[in-house]
Amino acid sequence: MKIYDLRSDTITLQTPQMREAMYHAEVGDDVYGEDKTVNTLEAMARELSGKEDSVFVSSGCMGNLLSLMIYGGRGNEVLCSKESHIIQHEIGAVSAIANTIPITVDSVNGIIDETTLENYIRPYSYDMGKSAMIEVENTTSGLIYPLEKMQKIKAIAEKHNMKVHLDGARIFNAVVETGIPLSTWAKCADDVTFCLSKGLGCPVGSMLCGDKEFIHLARRYRKMLGGGMRQIGYLAAAGIYALNNHVERLKEDHDNCKLIKEAIESTSWARVLTYGTNILFFTSDNYDINKIVKKFNADGLLVLSECGACRVVTNIGISKQDAEEIANYIKAFDPESINE
Ligand SMILES: *Cc1c(COP(=O)(O)O)cnc(C)c1O
Repeated sequence: MKIYDLRSDTITLQTPQMREAMYHAEVGDDVYGEDKTVNTLEAMARELSGKEDSVFVSSGCMGNLLSLMIYGGRGNEVLCSKESHIIQHEIGAVSAIANTIPITVDSVNGIIDETTLENYIRPYSYDMGKSAMIEVENTTSGLIYPLEKMQKIKAIAEKHNMKVHLDGARIFNAVVETGIPLSTWAKCADDVTFCLSKGLGCPVGSMLCGDKEFIHLARRYRKMLGGGMRQIGYLAAAGIYALNNHVERLKEDHDNCKLIKEAIESTSWARVLTYGTNILFFTSDNYDINKIVKKFNADGLLVLSECGACRVVTNIGISKQDAEEIANYIKAFDPESINE
């Protein structure tokens, strides 16, 4: 079997057309605001999100961090799911750098239960942290937040004078799957960040969008963190190319993920735990899932083992034919072979 990389959508390589767009980018010193390609990308993000302003940042982590620094901060609390990226995969920057106190609220597979959300919001008191913001992740491990849920969360936040940060690293997967535009999702939040470097297939970068004052501060904190970058029009050109050409095609990733999910469901030894858009998790009740992952990897199907489950992420490097071949491999897989 050839090698299929389903570990993540961050491993995606740049297409020749994207490289071409990067090569021809007009650049300047972005710290001086003189990189025309960056300015164009930021205008596109502003337009798409419906927010007043936008800034190019090095990563999704930095987008989240800037929001936490601005809307959270010392002695202030952010309510979020215990499964959220800011809790699980950002090395504690929420507190280590932003000085924000994370409060994990009830959630099912990363989706916050808004009916209990208000229980976590503190009244003003001289001796308690201030409930400053709510963090929502959409998609969350591939699962889409129902729009009404996000609207309810925003309404709760407004009632309590709190901000909402939308970690939309994979928001375009939700956009393509539901047909609901980014601007509608973004209305449920004060600021939103999305990744160019995942399913959209860019080498680097995320956009952070919010109101003018927020983005002004974000630019200052970005510089403070060492994230003021110079001729990054080359990277912005990849972003522009991706927003123009790689959004609609995310549907192919979703179709491919569905194909693989159905193959898993057809086996007698595997069970799907969660599935949505381009990500699925499965486990086995009868066989050691870590051994299965090891065997998959040895056979050329690269996947990750995470918390007793196998994680599969479809991406631009996987064609429909690849997905069919992967599905056939899974259907024919003999779980007894893990013990060989
Ligand atoms: C990947 C991811 C991030 C961070 O993005 P990086 O560009 O890898 O820093 C943040 N939030 C979520 C939900 C993600 O999946």
